[in-house]
Amino acid sequence: MLKGKVALITGGSGGIGKAVALRLAAEGANIVIFHMDDEAKVQELCAELRSKGVKATGLRIDVSDFSETKEAVGNVIKNFGAIDILVNCAGITRDGLIAMMKEENFDAVIGVNLKGTFNMIRHCTPYFIKQRFGKIVNVSSVSGIMGNPGQANYSASKAGVIGLTKSTAKELVGRGVCCNAVAPGFIATEMTANLSKNNTLVDQIPMKRMGTPEEVADLVLFLASDASSYITGEVIRIDGGIAM
Ligand code: NAP
Repeated sequence: MLKGKVALITGGSGGIGKAVALRLAAEGANIVIFHMDDEAKVQELCAELRSKGVKATGLRIDVSDFSETKEAVGNVIKNFGAIDILVNCAGITRDGLIAMMKEENFDAVIGVNLKGTFNMIRHCTPYFIKQRFGKIVNVSSVSGIMGNPGQANYSASKAGVIGLTKSTAKELVGRGVCCNAVAPGFIATEMTANLSKNNTLVDQIPMKRMGTPEEVADLVLFLASDASSYITGEVIRIDGGIAM
């Protein structure tokens, strides 16, 4: 389905991003991962991806840094020959109640989740316009749709990603570029490891379970492929019904 395409996945070493990398590679896409800290984890993943017969590389790039991401995107195009799919999955949380939230925790979350998504779209877009093709999939959250106590910074960043998705989609719709977002609910990854044993929380999910990274990856594949050729500016919840 994606044979020969190049997919750049930020946060590709983490739970959802890793599942996306494996899913897109299974469809033949070559994979570039931007990640932050865990070098060993990303090297192991790249070896697994290469064993599927695709090219794969992991680069330590801070998505919140405008010039670092600019240079890195240029290098990916030089080394891989193209970028066809951009999945913005890098994300962090610094939870806390608004009355006590530290300024640096607000700035850090907005910097990675929202500005990081902007940086990546900003640097890939001139290239997408030139090649008259691009699939952008942003990972938002149900927190950005309905808010969540203790997550004012995170909710604001993910709501921002939805606005960014819709404006980008409107600007690029005539250029062969689609931009969509997914909004996961509670997905079992490292980010939510401390929540997974919270039965009260799981009980609030109409489907009575957390989602898996693989379920999100299937949705990202749909939005990254020709199967979604008539969809842009959309936000698709994948949340077991929690935000309906
Ligand atoms: P995760 O396992 O913590 O993975 C986060 C990823 O982001 C890692 O690959 C990490 O790289 C990368 N990252 C963090 N800061 C970065 C930076 N400054 N520059 C580049 N990469 C950076 O989280 P996850 O649960 O898979 O979440 C993935 C995305 O889904 C996030 O955007 C999150 O907000 C969103 N989401 C998650 C859930 C959920 O329930 N899990 C729900 C809704 C939305 P290193 O590992 O190398 O540090």
